[in-house]
Amino acid sequence: MVANSIYRLARPSVQNLLPYQPGKPLAALARELGLANIIALASNENPLGPSPKAIAAVKNSLNVLNRYPEGSGYELKKALATKLDVDVTQITLGNGSNEILELIARTFLSSNLSAVFSQYAFIVYSLLTQAIGAQANVAKAGDGVLFPKYGHDLNALFDAITANTRIVFIANPNNPTGTFLRSAALLRFIRSLPDHVICVIDEAYFEYVNAKDCPDTMSWLASSPNLILTRTFSKAYGLAGLRVGYSISSPEIADLLNRVREPFNNNSLALVGALAALKDQHYLRKSIANNNSGMRQFTDYFKYSGLHVQQSLGNFIMLDLKRDALLVYQSLLEQGIIVRPIANYGLPTHLRISIGSTEANQCCMDALSEIMHV
Ligand SMILES: *Cc1c(COP(=O)(O)O)cnc(C)c1O
Repeated sequence: MVANSIYRLARPSVQNLLPYQPGKPLAALARELGLANIIALASNENPLGPSPKAIAAVKNSLNVLNRYPEGSGYELKKALATKLDVDVTQITLGNGSNEILELIARTFLSSNLSAVFSQYAFIVYSLLTQAIGAQANVAKAGDGVLFPKYGHDLNALFDAITANTRIVFIANPNNPTGTFLRSAALLRFIRSLPDHVICVIDEAYFEYVNAKDCPDTMSWLASSPNLILTRTFSKAYGLAGLRVGYSISSPEIADLLNRVREPFNNNSLALVGALAALKDQHYLRKSIANNNSGMRQFTDYFKYSGLHVQQSLGNFIMLDLKRDALLVYQSLLEQGIIVRPIANYGLPTHLRISIGSTEANQCCMDALSEIMHV
C-alpha cells in the first residue's frame, strides 16, 4: 500500500516508463550455464578488446583518483577539435553519447513540446522523450521504395513535425535496423527544417560506415546552426565500459547543453582513456577491418542459407527469421551465445546480432543453422 502510493507520486510519464533493456550481460549467462566461454554478440561492443594505449593511459592515472576530473574535459575536447577541424567551443562531452542525447532532451523538451523520430529508431529517443513527459511524434518507417525498409522515411519525419516540435532524432546508421540515409536526401531534409526544430544526427556507428555517399555532416554545421551530431567512443573505439561520447554543434547549442550538464559528467579515467584511444588510429583501422570481414562472413552465410538479412552499415546485422525470434534467442542462449531479440521495437521475428571475432561469428552461424535447419 505504502509502496504503491509512492509510485503515484512520480510524474505520470515516469509511472508508465519501461526501463531500457540492455543485452543479457555475459557474466550473467556464464553464471547461469556454468560456462567459461560465452559468446557475447548482443550489445554492438568491439570484439578486439580496448586499445592497449587506452588501457595504459587509464592505468597511469589511477593515482589521481582522489582529485576531481577537469570538468571542462579540456584535453579531450582539444584533441577532438583538432581531429575534426572544428572549434573547441563546438564540442560537448558526455557520459556516453547517451548522456548527450539526454542533455539535448532536457535542454529543448518539456511537457507541451514534442520530439519526432522514426518507427524502429534507437529506443533511447522514445525513453528520453517519455521521461521528460514530452510528446513523441513517431513517423512510419520506410517501405523499401523511396527509403529503406525499416529505415527512416524523411518525408514521413517531415510530416510529423508540428509547431510544438523541438527535436528530430535521426540515427545514421540506425540501430537496430542498420539502415542508412544517403547524403543528398539528408542534406535536403536538414535544409528544409523550420527554425524551431533542432536536428540530432546520431552517428554512433560513423567510423564503420563504408559508403560512397556517406554524408559529410561536419561540413553542414556552418550553415545549419540547429544541427547536432553525436558520436561515441563505445563502438569502433572500443570503450563502451568507460562511457564517453560527444557532440559537435554550433557554439550556442554547446553553451546551452553545458548549462544543464552536471559538473563532472566524465570521470577522469574516461577522459584519459578516450584521449589515448583517439590517438590510436592503428586500433581503429583494425576494428574497421575486423568489422568489414565479419560483415562479409555473415552476409555470405545468409545469402547461402536463405535467411533474410537487412543491409547494415553498422557493426551489427538485423535478420528476419520469419518465426518467433525469442525461441531462437533462447536456444542460442542455451549454447552460450547471446544475441539481441528486438520485440520491444515491434520486431518480434527479428534478431540483432553484433559482429564479433571470426570464431565467434562462425559459432553463431553454426548454432543458427542447427536451430533453424538451414
Ligand atoms: C550504442 C549507441 C549509442 C550510444 O552509446 P553510448 O555508449 O552511450 O555512447 C547511441 N546511439 C545509437 C544509435 C547507438 O546504437
